[in-house]
Amino acid sequence: MNMDAKSGSPAAQSDAALRIRAIEEILTEKGLIDPKAVDLLVDTFENQIGPRNGAKVVAKAWTDSEYKQRLLSDATAAIAELGFSGLQGENMVVVENTDRLHNVIVCTLCSCYPWPTLGLPPVWYKSAAYRARAISDPRGVLREFGTEIPEGVEVRVWDTTAELRYLVLPQRPAGTETMNEEELTELVSRDSMIGVTRELTAKQP
Ligand code: FE
Repeated sequence: MNMDAKSGSPAAQSDAALRIRAIEEILTEKGLIDPKAVDLLVDTFENQIGPRNGAKVVAKAWTDSEYKQRLLSDATAAIAELGFSGLQGENMVVVENTDRLHNVIVCTLCSCYPWPTLGLPPVWYKSAAYRARAISDPRGVLREFGTEIPEGVEVRVWDTTAELRYLVLPQRPAGTETMNEEELTELVSRDSMIGVTRELTAKQP
């Protein structure tokens, strides 16, 4: 394997992970941080703060057709309109799910992920199993997430790189016609924007 410390390469990723672990251990030993607080922080960026940005992009696209057109033609600029840009989000492409098409995102090389819209990648996204099988057996992988893609729906897998990062635009769930943009944001899950889930549901009040 090429061991260049190129940003985004497996070598760079593991090096960064080792450094972070070393720093965490030192800080914990000195009693400066609580490992539980670190876990909470990671969870916050992985599940709470991070994907909420992407959810806002999706909800805006659902409610504003002109925005959706801009999003599909120049995702980087359209996402930046909402204030989400920067590191690991410089070149974005949004891929739209339809009745006939389902999109899934993977990084087969390492763990490239759109940070400004999704936050930190979940552990499974970085796993060798997901990275290898998302390409060779996408329907099988999706089934493990509880997602059954109907026969007539094409599954397209997008291989994210350090240069180009993808975001799935899920379909707006039925029964949400009266919901406003903010309410719709709450329905959009992180996994739907990676594409490992397809159906979103309107929460019952
Ligand atoms: Fe990567």
